[in-house]
Amino acid sequence: MDRIYNFAAGPATLPLEVLKEVQKEFLNYNKTGVSILELSHRSQAFSNLIKEIEQDLRDLMHIPSNYKVMFAQGGATTQFAAIAMNLMKNKKADYIVTGIFSKNAAEEAKIFGDVKIVADGSSSQFRKIPDCSNLPIRDDADYVYYCDNNTVYGTKFKAIPNSKGKPLVVDQSSCFLSEPIDVSKFGVVYAGIQKNAGPAGLAIVIVREDLIREKLSFPTPTMLNWKIQSDKESLYNTPNSFAIYFVGKTLKWIKKQGGIEAIQKKNIEKAKLLYDYLDNSKYVKVADVNSRSMMNVTFNCGNEELDKKFIEEASKQGISFIKGHRAVGGMRASIYNAMSKEGVVTLIEFMKKFEKENL
Ligand code: PMP
Repeated sequence: MDRIYNFAAGPATLPLEVLKEVQKEFLNYNKTGVSILELSHRSQAFSNLIKEIEQDLRDLMHIPSNYKVMFAQGGATTQFAAIAMNLMKNKKADYIVTGIFSKNAAEEAKIFGDVKIVADGSSSQFRKIPDCSNLPIRDDADYVYYCDNNTVYGTKFKAIPNSKGKPLVVDQSSCFLSEPIDVSKFGVVYAGIQKNAGPAGLAIVIVREDLIREKLSFPTPTMLNWKIQSDKESLYNTPNSFAIYFVGKTLKWIKKQGGIEAIQKKNIEKAKLLYDYLDNSKYVKVADVNSRSMMNVTFNCGNEELDKKFIEEASKQGISFIKGHRAVGGMRASIYNAMSKEGVVTLIEFMKKFEKENL
């Protein structure tokens, strides 16, 4: 079967090697005689597996020992509420809004407390990351929140916002495991895994221990309570065992590539190829040059008819799911860890031809 180049934003392309390995052992996981889908989450085999995955993640991300790691159900969006419910003591939080997902997170937090938007990229239609070096953070804010990579607009923070000593919460969904980060600078690092690590529906939540509190300010559902979830090591109820297992395979694949540092090198190379071409082309670039994402590259042809033609013709060449988000239009090439350099080169070749014939 021929696989296409999948430029989707998420669920997104996953490493073929990992997919094949999962396929190979699908009927009989690690000599247990059952599929991973059939394996009890209370079995020794699963218990060993989840521990090993956590350790691999800790090794790869250099997660300090005073941080807990949770595998949480309900994707990243479920954590929008969990973050507010677990972290709000004064019931005040400061949010940096740089796109749809940080806006949604702020709206969710408003259910629980007083939310102040301390930086807002909407005046640039979210094409630009605002300067976050000196924000009007409130003295009694419980935390400061931002979204590192804005999947929809193709923008990315180049510096960690100055949270003025308040715990910093970062949504890393669309740049998770794509470059090293210093976890110790954050209160919470979390990500939905469906871009760089596995299937949708699972979030990995890394929380500094002192932020996990026994007594919360709100009646909090058990599944959103980080104290319970971390004490139970993500096994309070039946977890999304397949997604966890899949993440484990992806982590081994990253290790084999030489770790996150090596992955970053490849990502820089891929993104540079595409941006260098774009900069010398007639395509319209969406993200501001200084706010560009290495994972989601947004551009258009300058008119909707041509965008439509681009998407149709690209699809015929096996370059698929490249349509931009409805909020932005045009095209978005998501070039996550698993997108090969050949995929990016194939896209550029197609873009050159399309440009010559149409722009
Ligand atoms: N944050 C970011 C940056 C995202 O890209 C997405 C999904 N595309 C979300 C949050 C929401 O993730 P989920 O669909 O897993 O809730």
